[in-house]
Amino acid sequence: MQEKRFYTFVFAPTASSRFRQINLHYRTIYLILGLAVVGMITVSVGAYQLTRHAILVAKFNLMQMQNRRLRDENHEVKNNLDRIQGRIAVIETTSRKLAEVSGLSRPGDVSSNIGAGGPAGGHPDDLEQATAALERELRQIKDVVDRNQMKLSSTPSGWPVRGYVSDGFGTRSDPFSGGAEVHAGLDIATTFGTAIEATADGIVIFAGSHAGYGNVVVIDHGYGVTTRYGHMSRIDAKVGDRVTRGRQIGAVGSTGRSTGPHCHYEVRIHDRPVNPLNYISIGRS
Ligand SMILES: [Zn+2]
Repeated sequence: MQEKRFYTFVFAPTASSRFRQINLHYRTIYLILGLAVVGMITVSVGAYQLTRHAILVAKFNLMQMQNRRLRDENHEVKNNLDRIQGRIAVIETTSRKLAEVSGLSRPGDVSSNIGAGGPAGGHPDDLEQATAALERELRQIKDVVDRNQMKLSSTPSGWPVRGYVSDGFGTRSDPFSGGAEVHAGLDIATTFGTAIEATADGIVIFAGSHAGYGNVVVIDHGYGVTTRYGHMSRIDAKVGDRVTRGRQIGAVGSTGRSTGPHCHYEVRIHDRPVNPLNYISIGRS
């Protein structure tokens, strides 16, 4: 019974060498096998832990990299927002000046929702709001500018014909009778046939012969303003024509009550003659 508790291992290092024999107690065998199992488990757990650690480190590094990238991106976005905010502030200032110059009645109202000093915080929503407010303000300014532009282009300005003033506006001696009379316009003398041009945008309300004016064109410019161009040798417009400033409406002549080729030019406000010289320099440098 004692023998059964031992295991015998037989070794033969080479084919021709002598056998070697080791006798091991079964407890020793179990101990060795047990140690081997424990060793294998330890190695496995260790390897697993190492792998897990390596994966965590890799993940951490990746996250750190992403974090750095996000931080850089965030920084860039913030810089961009700051830049846009700066530009909006500049546009706001320009817009306010434009509102003032264009005579916008209440320039404070339109930009009140932007507030002084531009959009606060530089948040995209603030920028969005500021931009929308600016768009509204610019639309209002454009309306005013358009209206002003229309009024300006409808206001007589410049000379209807190049020449020299042979007679001014006001009281003068009648060139025919020698008595005193009121001269309702400006006489501009120049070569027969020189082109006569409209001095503002408007609609032709008369084109034909009329008493002392001879061949005359009358243009209505709106706002109660009309202009007359008399003594024409030829009329190049007809009633209802929509004319713009600079458009030829006739040619210099001496029809009607005239002593030589000239253009009798009148500016009337609500049909009351005013001095055309006051209008000639308007809008001209
Ligand atoms: Zn005249």
